[in-house]
Amino acid sequence: ISQQLSHRGAARSVAGMASVLAHEIKNPLSGIRGSAQLLEQEVGESDKELTRLICEETDRICALVDQMEVFSNNRPIVPEHINIHLVLEHVRKLAQNGFAKGVTFKEFYDPSIPSARGDKGQLIQVFLNLIKNAAEAVPGAGGEIILTTAYRHGVRVAVPGSSERMHLPLEICVMDNGPGIADDLKPHLFDPFVTTKTNGTGLGLALVAKIVGDHGGIIECDSIKEKKGGGTLFRVLLPSYKGQG
Ligand code: ADP
Ligand code: MG
Repeated sequence: ISQQLSHRGAARSVAGMASVLAHEIKNPLSGIRGSAQLLEQEVGESDKELTRLICEETDRICALVDQMEVFSNNRPIVPEHINIHLVLEHVRKLAQNGFAKGVTFKEFYDPSIPSARGDKGQLIQVFLNLIKNAAEAVPGAGGEIILTTAYRHGVRVAVPGSSERMHLPLEICVMDNGPGIADDLKPHLFDPFVTTKTNGTGLGLALVAKIVGDHGGIIECDSIKEKKGGGTLFRVLLPSYKGQG
């Protein structure tokens, strides 16, 4: 009985609901995928394309469900002193060993920047999503991602849900030499389910915007001028611990 009760309790919140749904959707999906894989060994060459399609599409639903779960998980941020360079290097290594193997990374870090006031796990998610998009946008040959950090003597803003007023002086930029973002897409860029990719979920930037907002930070997107090589720039401003009060 107690298990049932706690189960219902979890499902009452949006996050709990998403988590239960995710579980219920992914179980039969893995059954479908497994069966399609078995079928692939049985069918002739001409039908293998179909079984592969089933696998790809079930993978896509899985990714969507995963992101929906993360997105609706309203975990409050647990702020601590974060060395943003360690976060960026962690994500860069993940990227270079995984989805961004052929991409050249360049870093221009300001070694004197203070700690960010942030939630490490959630900030990793932010830069993972931004760098994943950059890696998906750059050309197969000559793809380049530039990461920069700087300390800006910025404005003071209120931190959501807190009486503290913070500086927002940490600026982290993720730049790429991809095709840039069309002007008509820009106003909707951070909305959920906005995607131009056949296999996209459109939840990456929505999640990024939510996390940055929860931190009391700001995110902006800019196109890089043609004469500087073109591409996209995402600028994240995060509160630091320096000058707090
Ligand atoms: P997804 O990656 O699943 O499509 P996102 O929310 O991460 O969803 O991104 C939404 C859309 O924004 C992408 O489909 C793409 O059109 C555009 N976009 C995001 N980042 C970049 C980038 N660095 N260069 C070009 N387009 C981008
Ligand atoms: Mg994405």
